[in-house]
Amino acid sequence: MARAGEVVSGCLELLAEHCRPGITTAGLDAMAEEYIRKRRGIPTFKGYRGFPASICASPNQVVVHGIPGAYALKDGDIMSLDVGVTLAGWVADAAVTVPVGEPGRPAARLMDVTRTALMRAVARCVPGNHLGDVSFAVQEYVENNGFSVVRTLVGHGIGRDMHEDPQIPNYGIPGDGPELKEGMVFAIEPMVNAGTHKVVVAEDKWAISTADGTLSAHFEHTVAITENGPRVLTAGTAKGDPGFGSANPLW
Ligand code: MG
Repeated sequence: MARAGEVVSGCLELLAEHCRPGITTAGLDAMAEEYIRKRRGIPTFKGYRGFPASICASPNQVVVHGIPGAYALKDGDIMSLDVGVTLAGWVADAAVTVPVGEPGRPAARLMDVTRTALMRAVARCVPGNHLGDVSFAVQEYVENNGFSVVRTLVGHGIGRDMHEDPQIPNYGIPGDGPELKEGMVFAIEPMVNAGTHKVVVAEDKWAISTADGTLSAHFEHTVAITENGPRVLTAGTAKGDPGFGSANPLW
């Protein structure tokens, strides 16, 4: 899974570098598929329940599951990119939201809060903690910063399949839920809206957007629970990310 995670993070880095005004989301998708297949990976999303592309590309008010297409990125957009890779039968999954050109201050703060919420949740991935501690870490930080967590979409266990039990909501009660044990692997993915937590589904039945049209950000890592704490298998995926490695003071 760590090897699959390396392909995911490398792919996201490549995509983040190319998120400039003018490129289409279909162009980003083609770039991702080539990158993944050259490394003997399979783009996990392609064909998943009929999803037609290798990545999810979700600009601005689109929360997740945007189908890549003719949309050309504009200066000031924020772009959520979600990538899953299957390598030798194991899956890793991660997402980042990156700025296109110069986003406004509210957009920059939304991305910053969402990424930090993920880091705080990852830091809770320690044997003996409970799943509710992870969920609560996201909710508490996001809501204290005046944003909302999407309720109807959740993170998930991950391994041989992309979506395994348990579901990992971005809201919860400390101490609730199953106890975390060494060897568990989770895809933790805060989806954070600037306005209401409510979302709507597009006519294409895939893209999910904020109900009030405000911006949304999405960050995700695949995280293994080890006796020494969290091991992020998709590290270093954010543009300008100081890194999820051992140098990070959060763990
Ligand atoms: Mg996921």
